[in-house]
Amino acid sequence: MRQTVAAGNWKMNKTPSETRALIAELAPLVKDAKNKVIVCPTAVCLPAAVEAAKGTNILVGAQNLYFEDKGAFTGEISADMLLDLGVSYVIIGHSERRQYFAETDETVNKKVLKALEKGLNPIICVGESLEQREQGITADLVRMQVKIALQGVSAEQAKTVIIAYEPIWAIGTGKTATTEQAEEVCKTIRDCICELYCADVAEAVIIQYGGSVNAGNSAELFSQANIDGGLVGGASLKAADFAVIANS
Ligand code: PEP
Repeated sequence: MRQTVAAGNWKMNKTPSETRALIAELAPLVKDAKNKVIVCPTAVCLPAAVEAAKGTNILVGAQNLYFEDKGAFTGEISADMLLDLGVSYVIIGHSERRQYFAETDETVNKKVLKALEKGLNPIICVGESLEQREQGITADLVRMQVKIALQGVSAEQAKTVIIAYEPIWAIGTGKTATTEQAEEVCKTIRDCICELYCADVAEAVIIQYGGSVNAGNSAELFSQANIDGGLVGGASLKAADFAVIANS
């Protein structure tokens, strides 16, 4: 049985003190959660998050990292810096980073390799735009994104990655993919991993759905055979809502 995972992508929301308050409110609500619970605040809030999550079952993830170890890369954050803080997960290749910050499948791959080399667990985001879905290329595109993201990743390493299928048209729009659409693409991803590695690896990889997951739709989405939890934006900023999702 795969562990299901509810991860909250807080995006550019919450100050350090608001981070402490949200985790304090969330912790008692998710202490017996069935899903693994991860919160991903913005980089400047990570120390506050790690501190506030101590002694709870809440794990902390970052929203990005850089693929070099150190040096003249103004504004960037290395894997070692995240690890030193006590961060254990990192979102890589979120569509907002691809869209606004020129992330490509190649930089995603470099970041995935660096995260794995250092012992951080990557949450790799893939997904199509509305135009691409209407062109009927969703499966091809997502397979390509997965294949490039995992180039050079060993079978043992691949077992530890989380892949989040996030249709861009469903992110922050209130427009959730239907359960069938989400399950179909998550199965496509699992089949692709089986082709790249083997059935054992495909069975082990956690595949999340993301895109307007909320307290009302998480249970049905997470009950699908190939959906192992969710990457949650807006609803993760409300403790009560995220708690329902984490307990789904
Ligand atoms: C996200 O940011 O990854 C996301 C899925 O956002 P939302 O849940 O708000 O659509």
